[in-house]
Formats: sequence, C-alpha cells, structure tokens
Amino acid sequence: MKPVLMCRDVIVDFDGFRALQGVDLTVYPHEVRFLIGPNGAGKTTLLDVICGRTRATDGRVMFFSHDITKQPEYEIVQMGIARKFQSPSIFPFLTVWENMELAIRQDRRLRSVLRAKRTEKEEEIMAAQLERMGLLDERHRLAGTLSHGQKQWLEIGMQLIQRPQLLLLDEPIAGMSAAERERTGEWLHEIAEHCAVIIVEHDMDFVRRYSKQVTVMHEGKVLCEGSIDEVQQNEQVIDVYLGR
Ligand code: ADP
Repeated sequence: MKPVLMCRDVIVDFDGFRALQGVDLTVYPHEVRFLIGPNGAGKTTLLDVICGRTRATDGRVMFFSHDITKQPEYEIVQMGIARKFQSPSIFPFLTVWENMELAIRQDRRLRSVLRAKRTEKEEEIMAAQLERMGLLDERHRLAGTLSHGQKQWLEIGMQLIQRPQLLLLDEPIAGMSAAERERTGEWLHEIAEHCAVIIVEHDMDFVRRYSKQVTVMHEGKVLCEGSIDEVQQNEQVIDVYLGR
C-alpha cells in the first residue's frame, strides 16, 4: 500500500535552535497514528511542517506522490490535509447547520454562503456527517451553546466534510468529559476508514485504549515506533519518561 504521508529527514531550525533534528515518519491509509512524547519533543512542530504552517529547513514531506515540502499552507489544505487545532474554531453565533454550510462550501464569506441554496446532495452529505458526529439533533442550536466536546466534534465534522485524506489532530480530547473522550476514541477508528489520522495526545490512558501504532518523539527526533506495549518497554522511552 502506498503511504499517505512520508516525512524524510525533516529538520526545523528556529533562530539557531534545532526543534526537529531529522524526523522520519510514514503513515499509511486507514491508520490512526498517535504521536506522543514529553513537552518540547517537537510534536506540534512536526504537524506544523506537514500542514505547511512551518517551513522545513531541510528534508522532504511527501503527500502521496506530491512533494509538499515547499507548498504554502492553503494549497496543502486544498490537496487534502486538514489540521484541527486544540481550541475549537467554529462560528459560535451561527447554528450547527450553518457552520456545516460554510464548511461544505469551503468558503468563509458568511453572507454569500448562507444566502446560496444548498443542493439536495449537499444537504444529505451534511446531515450524514452530523449524524456520524452525534450532532444531527443539535443542528438548529447556536454552535456557541454546545458542550466543549460537541464543539470539537463539530469542527472535526467541518473538516471531514471537505473529504481530506489526512487529518491532523492536536490533543482533541483535552477538556472533554469521560463520555465524550470515549466517543471520540471510537470515532477515530471510524474516521480512519476514509481518512488517515495523526493525533498528538498526552493522555496515556486514552493512548493505551485507542492506539494501534504509536510514534514516540523526544528532543526533535523519533525515539521509536510500535504498539503502546512495545514502546513502553523500550529502554530509551522509559529513560525519557522517568527522566533517568
Ligand atoms: P511539543 O509539541 O512536542 O511540546 P513543540 O513542537 O511545540 O513541542 O516544540 C519543540 C521545541 O521547539 C520546543 O523547545 C519549543 O520551545 C521550540 N519552538 C517551537 N516553536 C518555536 C518557535 N516558533 N520559535 C522558537 N522555538 C520554537
């Protein structure tokens, strides 16, 4: 199977500080890859490089057969890489449905999008996506009145409706209730049926429950990869986490 994403020897320097020191990462279709490691390991910087927010100083990033290393962020989004940041980015004074309307048109000009007539097909797709995220019954509610978890799901739904092939998630369960975390964990694998996922996560209980493949980063490098059991037995990982 062809990888969705291949990072090769990616280096990022910030004013003389080397935040990524030659990172290799390969992610295949239908994968949910958990990225873990202590603060400052370079996880966010790696996501930033993949989505074009930060330019790699050296190395290569391939998305399927396209070299996207020097591509601007907006082109990378159009090619099919979606990035969800920690805090929800939705329109709180619009309804859930109106937020989805903006997303399906990939257009943030509120007036023209909300005035435009939706096709039946678009409405079907929006309803199906909301149903998958458990938000169909909430479609007439103002998005700002949703719970924190529901806002996160709405934003993920808004990303998925644009049919990305790779979704980058930065600690999506932070601030969620236990029930919301559980639903999110189950959805991750449903999402991966259509779209590979890379998820940065600190909550080790969540990682243990929902991960298959984990990449551990430390000091701008990949320390090791494998199942959570494999990486937790790795001597270097134990040293890093126990600070030996
Ligand atoms: P993580 O997400 O694993 O906590 P980051 O990718 O945020 O790690 O940071 C990696 C390192 O790069 C840290 O030492 C951080 O201070 C540094 N860093 C991140 N962004 C910048 C920046 N814009 N300028 C300078 N240093 C940065």
